[in-house]
Formats: sequence, C-alpha cells, structure tokens
Amino acid sequence: MNMLAGIQRPSTTFPAFFRVRQLGDMFLVTNAQGDWLMLDAHDFKAFGEGTVAPNTPLWGRLRAANLIRAEFDVAAAAARMKKRYRFLDYGPNLHMLVATLRCNETCVYCHASRADMDATHTDMTAEIAEKSVELALASSAPFVTIEFQGGEPLVNFPVVKHAILYGQKRAQELGKSVEFTMVSNLALMDEEKLSFLLDHRVQLCTSIDGPEHLHDKQRKLVASSSYNAAVGWIARINKAYVERGLDPTLYHVEALLTTTREALSRGHDIVDTYAKLGCRALFLRPIDPFGFMEKTGARVDYPREDFLKFYRDTTDYIIEQNKKGVQILERYAAIFLTKILHGEDPNFLDIRSPGGAGVSAIAYNHNGKVFAGDEARMMHETGDDTFLLGTVDDLTYEKIVTHPTVRALALASNVNGRPDCVNCAYNPFCGVDGVHTYKTQGSISGRMRESTVCAVHKGIQDYLFEKLRENDPEVMEIFRRWTINRAREHFVQEPV
Ligand code: SF4
Repeated sequence: MNMLAGIQRPSTTFPAFFRVRQLGDMFLVTNAQGDWLMLDAHDFKAFGEGTVAPNTPLWGRLRAANLIRAEFDVAAAAARMKKRYRFLDYGPNLHMLVATLRCNETCVYCHASRADMDATHTDMTAEIAEKSVELALASSAPFVTIEFQGGEPLVNFPVVKHAILYGQKRAQELGKSVEFTMVSNLALMDEEKLSFLLDHRVQLCTSIDGPEHLHDKQRKLVASSSYNAAVGWIARINKAYVERGLDPTLYHVEALLTTTREALSRGHDIVDTYAKLGCRALFLRPIDPFGFMEKTGARVDYPREDFLKFYRDTTDYIIEQNKKGVQILERYAAIFLTKILHGEDPNFLDIRSPGGAGVSAIAYNHNGKVFAGDEARMMHETGDDTFLLGTVDDLTYEKIVTHPTVRALALASNVNGRPDCVNCAYNPFCGVDGVHTYKTQGSISGRMRESTVCAVHKGIQDYLFEKLRENDPEVMEIFRRWTINRAREHFVQEPV
C-alpha cells in the first residue's frame, strides 16, 4: 500500500480493513462486505495515512462506506454479509439431468462430448431419471431447478416427459417448489412436444452463436440450417407465450452464445441478431475448455486479451443500442453490477464464492453417475473422474453434501482463502470455479495470476468500474435497469 499515491506513513489505526486497485489515476477501495469508493490520489493518500479531518466530505464518504476503523458499523457489516451470502442458507438448488449424449447437431466446440444419433446406450432410463429427481428433491433448498441437458434432450423426450411428470408429482408430495428448464438446439421440436412443455411450464433455453452464417458454421445440422431451425422455434415459442397471456418482456426463449475466435470480429452483428430475435440478454462468455475443445481448441480458442477487447467493444455497442431504446443487457455486466451496486449475489454459480460446483449444482449423468456440477460431468466424458461423487443407487443427499470432493471444492473456491483473490479489490464481487481451475491449471485452488478466468473477471470489472467512474447518467440508468431482477413466476411450480 505504501507504494501507492505516494503514501509515506501508512496509518495502522484510521482505515478499517480494505483492499485497493489503481484504475488510471483513481484508486478503487473496497471492504470485505462489498462497500466501495473511488478516490483520487490526494484523497487516497489522506485515507491511507489517516490524515482525513473528521466531518469533512471525504470523512463522510469513508464513514458511509464503512471504511473508518473507529466508526466501523458492525451491525451494518453483518447485515450486508448475510445478504450477500444468502445462497449458502440451503443445499444444492440446480440439478442437471443429462437425458442423453445423443445429439442431432455437431458443434466445433461441443463441451458435452456429444454422441452420434445411433448411440442409444447413452440415453438415460426412466428409472435413473426417477432416482435423480428423488436426489434433487431431497435437497434442503425449498426451491429446486431441474434442468434437462444433453446431448440434445429432445432426442430422449419420453424420458424427459417422464421425469417432468414424476418430478411434479413428487414435488407436490414433498411440499417443494420446483422449476423445470431445458437446454435444447430446438431442431427436433414439434407441436406435440411443445404443447407438453408449455402445459408443464418448462422454461426453454437455446444456443445462438450469432448471425446465420456464423451459427451454421459452428453448429452443423445435416442437410439444413441449424440457425433457421432455432430461430423458427424461438419465434413460435415466443408467440405461444403471448397467446397464453404472458408478458413477452419477461417470458421469451433465452439464448446462449459460445464465443469462438471467429465471433470476436462479429460483436455488433451478434448483438443485432439477438435483438432481432427478441432476446433481452446476451452473455458474452469466453469459450470453455471442456469436451471437444481438447481437440478443437487450437482452431477456435484465443488469447483472453483479444476476448476483453471484444467484450469492451461489444458491450459499448450494447449500451449504445440501449440508448436508442433497444432493451438488451449484457449478462456478465448484470451479474457483477448486481453485486457492486446492490450488495446482492444473483447466485450465478461460476462467479461466486464458494463456487457452485457441488455446493449448489449437481449433475446426474445418463448412466446414473452423479457429479459435482456439469463441468465435472464433462470431465468424466473425457476420461477424468476426479469430481465423480457416486451413483444414484449408492448416494443419499447427505452423502452428496458432505462428500470430501464437495468440501474440498467449497474450500478451494473461497476467495477469502485463495492466494491472489485474498488481496484483490474485486474479492467481494468475484469467484472462480474449482473444476475450471483443475481443468486448466491442474489444481482446484488455481493460480489466479495465470488464470484465464481471473483475467476475464478482472478485465470486465475494470471496464465496469471505469463506467461507474465516468458516471454518465444515461449509462447509470441503463445499468440500473440491467440489475432489476424480475422473477419468472410462471415457471415456478408451487406446492398446493
Ligand atoms: S479471480 Fe482474479 S479478479 Fe477475481 S477476486 Fe480473484 S484475483 Fe481478483
């Protein structure tokens, strides 16, 4: 600290615990609870040396941010911590069922290690689906999300249907709120399947990798366009929501982007594509290292500084579009801003401390094997069973949540114990998943200064704090809108 802002004699009594990051000529000061202030060099020096006169405007700002040791408000700090860590009140709430590994599309980056359409041995059976649902509903979480993944879940639709009907019945019997979601490329959707999914209030999410040319190049569908299949069904499903009296600004198909090297030069086209499809959110995520990326990474991956340039330029463009009245948010920004501006954690499992793997997310593979989250299951498909917890036959809920692997992941992904994170000003808003660091660095704790995820998280938070410092009222209003969390209550099935 004493190298910063020309501080000569750091005070050991004036500042309360804080971390600092220099951003240009300003100093971002954060405390453990996530209060923060931007100080210029003069004010930061006075803060660090403890020469701030009482009852001056700077003293008032520091006091309001709980950064003065003698004025430290313990009750306010405790309330803020309690609010931030609310997600730890309960056990795993996200339960992912891999209905099959079979998939009708071939993606260059497939993280799920898809199987060909004749690989029927990779279909989940109704019995394994029931046992998976039982474990999911045994969670102490009062509200459980059951997500169908693949492969392509529509390939094994009879078992998906069975799991939904069984899950609804058991959730009622157990007095548990439940929500079903399905991640699908939509190409195998038909009216009968859609009616069932709509009638049973299943939330649908798909993939859109950008404009038609880019999407079709990355997601190959034999003899037809995967893009046209997806956008046709997005329009159909969104229309069905309106016909059922649901607010289209809240109820619409969500889409996920996988950012490949080719996408880095198409940021504006990608935003325009998403806006045209009626999507209200775009998640500018870097590509993950799992599944087929082991083989194709050299072709589609990129340095993270290139990603950050793409992120800044594309998010600037999204903000410009918002200023013109287009309602679309960038998901990374919304997640970080919710924590930074509201002191709340939106419980996004990959940017959380401790990380979500095993602590909040469990994956049930088609063969009955149970893993500490979906990335852990993806590692199994490429031959690494480090995060295998057991099977639906031998596990109980208690065995899952007390499993040594889950406990190790919880400890290793805690930013307050992880080297580098422990000193980082972004500590209260950040988090890196232990499975990801194991995959990329061979350690569940990871080495953040060499971590591509840390580089991305740091770069995005730098960008956001630069915007907060600029304090453009129009941008601040856009950021405020991006952090409004409107619950999709229609999808939540309450016990009666
Ligand atoms: S992951 Fe990186 S940016 Fe995030 S808290 Fe740790 S060191 Fe800071």
